[in-house]
Formats: sequence, C-alpha cells, structure tokens
Amino acid sequence: MIRISTFAGARVAVFGLGASGNATALALMAGGASVAAWDDSEAGREGAAKAGVPLVDLEVADWTAFSSLVLAPGVPLTHPEPHWTVKKAQAAGIEIIGDIELFCRERRARCPQAAFIAITGTNGKSTTTALIAHILKEAGKDVQLGGNIGVAVLTLDELAPDKVYVIECSSFQIDLAPSINPSVGVLLNITPDHLDRHGTIENYAAVKERLVARSEFAVVGVDDTYSKAIAERLRAKKGVTGGAIGYGPRLIPISAKGELSFGVYFEDERILKAEPGGITVVARLKGIAPLRGAHNGQNAAAAYAVCRELRCDFGFAASIKEFRGLPHRLETVRRYGPVDFINDSKATNAESTEKALASWSSGIYVILGGKAKAGGIEALRPYFSRLVKAYLIGEATDEFAATLNGAVSYERCGTLDVAVHRATTDALEANKPETVVLLSPACASFDQYKNFEVRGDHFRQLVLAEIERRGGQ
Ligand code: ADP
Repeated sequence: MIRISTFAGARVAVFGLGASGNATALALMAGGASVAAWDDSEAGREGAAKAGVPLVDLEVADWTAFSSLVLAPGVPLTHPEPHWTVKKAQAAGIEIIGDIELFCRERRARCPQAAFIAITGTNGKSTTTALIAHILKEAGKDVQLGGNIGVAVLTLDELAPDKVYVIECSSFQIDLAPSINPSVGVLLNITPDHLDRHGTIENYAAVKERLVARSEFAVVGVDDTYSKAIAERLRAKKGVTGGAIGYGPRLIPISAKGELSFGVYFEDERILKAEPGGITVVARLKGIAPLRGAHNGQNAAAAYAVCRELRCDFGFAASIKEFRGLPHRLETVRRYGPVDFINDSKATNAESTEKALASWSSGIYVILGGKAKAGGIEALRPYFSRLVKAYLIGEATDEFAATLNGAVSYERCGTLDVAVHRATTDALEANKPETVVLLSPACASFDQYKNFEVRGDHFRQLVLAEIERRGGQ
C-alpha cells in the first residue's frame, strides 16, 4: 500500500467504494487522515465496512469539516450532470480529486525520484501499459503496474526511488488529477469517446492533454487531428529546437502511419527510430501474434520511446517477442489445423473491430453482434471483401443482417455457442491456409453477458470444447 501522508490531520470525504475507493480510504487513514466514506449502493457500503473503512452518510454530513472530496472515477464530475456529492463539495468550496492525484502529491512530497509513467489515449491504453511494464521488467526494473488497467494505484508497493510506476490513466482519472506530472506521459490517440461524460470532443481532448502538458518527457501520437494539435502545442510551449521539423528532445512523436523525420514510427511490420543522425530499425513485429496490426504498431512505438527514455531499450527487440498480450484483445485461443481461433471480445464498437479485420487480409469467419452502438457496422464496409462469412448473435442481428445483405454471406446464430459451432465447421471444411475464426463483435455484451470479459471467457471455453470434440487436444 502507498500511505498518503500529505493529508495527515485532515478530514477527507471519499465517495464511491469499489476497490479503488476502499484502497484510497485505507491509504489516507494509514497516513493519518480522518476519513468519511460513503457509497450510494448498500453492497458498496457493506464491502467497505468489512474492509475497515469508516462510513459516514455524506448526504447529511457537515461538509465544512472536509478538506477534500476524493471521488471514484466512475462518478460523473460534470456531465451529464454533476453527482450530488460534487454539488455539495462545490457548495462547501472544497477540492474534488481522485486517487491518481493523491499518488502524484505523495510522490512529489516523499519520493520524486520514483519514475512515474502515465499512459492515456482513447484506444490502446491497456496494451501499451502492459507492454511497457513487460519490457521494463525484462530490463530488470522493479515495475509497479496499475491504474485503470485494474489494480488501484494506492494498492501498489510503497514509493521508493528505484521503483517504476507504470499507470494507465482514463480520461475520468485525469479529470480528477489536476496536478498530474508524470516523469513520462504517453498520449496515444484521441477519437470521440465518452462524450456523454465530457460534453464535447474539445473538452475530452483538453483533459487528455493535461496528462502530457506537465510531464517531463512526452510521447504523443500524431496520427489524429487532436493528438497532433497537442504535440504541436507542446513543441511550441517547450520552446526547444531540434531535428528538421523542430521537435525538441523532450517530446517524441509516434506514428503508425509511416515515416516521420523525427520520432518513432511503425512501417512494414517494423518499429523505426528517426533522429537527426538517421533512421534505425529497433524492432520487428512480424510473427508477434499479440501485436498484430498497425494499431499495435502505434502501441509498440510508444513503448519503445518510453523504454529508451528510461535507458531500458537495450533488450527491446528481444523482449517484445516474449510479450503475451492481454486477454480479449486479439488473443489467440488456439490454432487447430489451418485455423486460428481469436478472442477479440474487447472490441465493443466498430472502430475496434475494424482494427481486427485490418489485421488479416482474407479468410475471416467473424462472429458479430450483441448490443450495437450508434452506426452499427457500416464503418466495416471497406473490409467486407476480407470476410468469408459472418455469424450474427444477440440484439444487433437484424440491424447487422441488413448492413451485410448482398455483400457478405451471413447466418443468424442467436447465441455464441451456435456461432462458434457453425464458424468452426465452415472454417475447418474450407481447409485453407491462413484462416481465422474471430470473435470481434463490434458490440457491447450486456444483452447476453455481464461484460466483455465474461463473453470472451465463454468464447474460449466453447472453442476448446469444439476442438476437443473434433479430436484435438
Ligand atoms: P484501452 O485500454 O484504451 O481500451 P486496449 O489496449 O484494451 O485499449 O485495446 C482495446 C481495443 O482497442 C483493442 O481491442 C483494439 O481493437 C483497439 N486498439 C488497441 N490499440 C489501439 C491503437 N493504438 N489505436 C486504435 N485502436 C487500438
């Protein structure tokens, strides 16, 4: 646990008692703060009480006694409407922050030497965070991996100068971390997302910008309009010169769209570094299954830039080959005969499924469906020629069938077990090299599953059972 000493003697309100809220309360108490914690749900309050967190009904509490409100990132700060605790905090004139802010203040006060790598972006955060952690571990660093990736930051090991904190940050977490100043900040990309919570894309981009604006070293994607504008602003602000296009040494641009005159980029399944002295190939991604596709090229380019800054790039080309990837993101479940079975259940929108379809040039038997997002699968049309057949499940079936009609052969399967069975049969009967049975649903899972993880786990089980039934091990 990271003890929060910077609030010693203060009385702090904590709202939202999931894993990170409870960890926050305990870390504050360990550092000498007095905590008043609350949650709207009975179950949340029960869990907190069991963990030894002191409950106070914040609806009726005296807010003038609090120095701060520490909010869980899932609780609305501004949109669609500020949560009632936010209104009470504003009325009392106290700050509203999150656990990453506590971590930042504590690091500054007690251990600024501890490296703090913060990663954000609309897509690719978890993969890049896990990849950076993997490479740094292989290079012998004491890596503490956490944040939005699923481990509350304050549950990590106590701050120490030789530790490297590799922290995934969502836009909600950055919104609650006004003084965030990582030693290395990574911004991968910005596309419209979570606008219900941030109001406009401009607000959303401004929140993301804060993560790199105060970092000592910034790694910024330049493949979309918003991130590129941020890189330009940083370059102007830092006022450093360097390289033909003027990027200073404290800012490294990254791209998955080919050559940069200065920066790290992905091209022809390789990661290249362009410096005033010339261009060098630093890694080859061909054959590294968890890093298939140009989008992963962007993630790998970011990871290289970070590891180089930490002087840990010496083993990069070898270590990256050992990266196992994360479950549910282009995860290879098995190869059986000529067929790869791929679990990409994390693809909950068409944009993510597009990345998966772009990773194979043909021979795709794809399982689509669930609870559709606005626009459905219209955006996938340019990839329809790569599909052999689509297997439709869940609520989105009629809508997706209408889009595929006349362009791609499809089958209404209803549920995942039928879809896996049908797709496996067709793919094995075709018996062609480079064939893939791909779950990349372009939909949320909530119509049939608790979340995308449960859907992906079910797919994995169904695939293994199908293979076993057919005599595979
Ligand atoms: P996040 O943590 O930001 O949600 P993940 O690493 O979990 O990102 O990847 C989620 C999905 O986003 C992947 O399944 C893939 O479809 C897509 N993705 C991953 N990296 C990128 C990237 N750099 N650019 C665009 N899309 C990406």
